Amino acid sequence: MTDQHKKQNCDTMAAGLLSVDEAKQRILDSVTPINGEEKLAIRATLNRVLARDILSTINVPPYDNSAMDGYAVSSTDLPQQGETRLDVVGESFAGNPYSGTLSSGQAIRIMTGAMIPDGADTVIMQEQVRRDGDSIVIGSGHKKNANVRYSGEDMQVGQTILTRGKQILPAELGILASLGIPEVKVMRKLRVAFFSTGDELRSVGEPLEEGQIYDSNRYTLYGMLKRMHVDIIDMGVIADRREDVREAFTSAAAIADAVITSGGVSVGEADYVKETLEELGQVTFWRVAMKPGKPLAIGRIDSAAFFGVPGNPVSAMATFYQFVQPALRKMMGMPNPFNTLLKVPCMTALKKAPGRLEYQRGILDYNENGELIVNTTGVQGSHILTSMSQANCFIILPAENTGVAAGECVEVQPFTDLV
Ligand code: AMP
Ligand code: MG
Repeated sequence: MTDQHKKQNCDTMAAGLLSVDEAKQRILDSVTPINGEEKLAIRATLNRVLARDILSTINVPPYDNSAMDGYAVSSTDLPQQGETRLDVVGESFAGNPYSGTLSSGQAIRIMTGAMIPDGADTVIMQEQVRRDGDSIVIGSGHKKNANVRYSGEDMQVGQTILTRGKQILPAELGILASLGIPEVKVMRKLRVAFFSTGDELRSVGEPLEEGQIYDSNRYTLYGMLKRMHVDIIDMGVIADRREDVREAFTSAAAIADAVITSGGVSVGEADYVKETLEELGQVTFWRVAMKPGKPLAIGRIDSAAFFGVPGNPVSAMATFYQFVQPALRKMMGMPNPFNTLLKVPCMTALKKAPGRLEYQRGILDYNENGELIVNTTGVQGSHILTSMSQANCFIILPAENTGVAAGECVEVQPFTDLV
């Protein structure tokens, strides 16, 4: 053992636990983006991750056009004072431009989005002119180039418009369409297999006998993964039997990029997860200085990344959001895997013992002045799944924090990123 390792061991042992930040960094460092892309029609790319930069081959808008309904004129005809009269010699509609060239003393009736005719450089809003038969009368005070939208103002030929790793949302679909791009290359979908471990677990549809509970983690995991738009492989409940656990891990690792299990990562008698994993791959078991969700297993089985989250329902969700989701996003090719954090006043006093970082369940809301505030959901046990339903965010209390007074600002992580 090197001195550095000795020192690290002493540090972590002294504290007993790994800090949340350190755990996050190590987990992110342990995964790399997957290989493989597919070409899809643009609508089918919604929520997917771009595999290549998108360069513009055209200007958007492709031509100078009017921002208003009105009259296209030459700025040299605009009066400095008093009024001027111009002949209306034609029309330019969106999709139906005026083909001639404007001469001095002339104007063209023009609609929003229509091409600015040659010889014109300014559009006067129709509300600001007086129509008089075949001519218009314009007053002073108009600016050269008013109400003109220029070619390439949004996107220019040769410009990188979207970069690899960008998630395609509605605006990106519109951009691709604006550029006339029918198909794009996106990262292939990440394949994620997951199962629950525990002899006490039954699946919905089965009767409960004494000492048994329904498996809820496979459902919360399903929901959280589905919202990440990955391919999901639900492998069911695996009993606490060595052979079953080994078999499940082996088959999951063979078909998935990532394998997630819940339960069996604490140091219980019947927890074969640890033994099996040490036998099959490279896995590290950590005790992280966080609440809820102290135990966590991270590693690799063959080519699949492995994440073992705790069995308690709230711990499973909290651990997923903090560690597994960012790692999966990195594997999907997304450059910024972390959710947005907010700082808002907490309207309720919060109790906290120093030592572990806490993810308390909070309700982000508006006060009567329309300002964001947060309240606690109340009871914070790691088995109280209803607290996750009442909540819409985690209130993040740093390890050293010893409680929060009502009105004090706290850091908050919404469950749904503000995309
Ligand atoms: P474990 O991590 O296996 O020691 O489990 C910790 C606690 O979480 C125990 O009370 C388990 O019964 C419970 N638990 C484990 N897995 C699940 C699950 N999939 N759904 C609901 N509760 C679970
Ligand atoms: Mg268990």
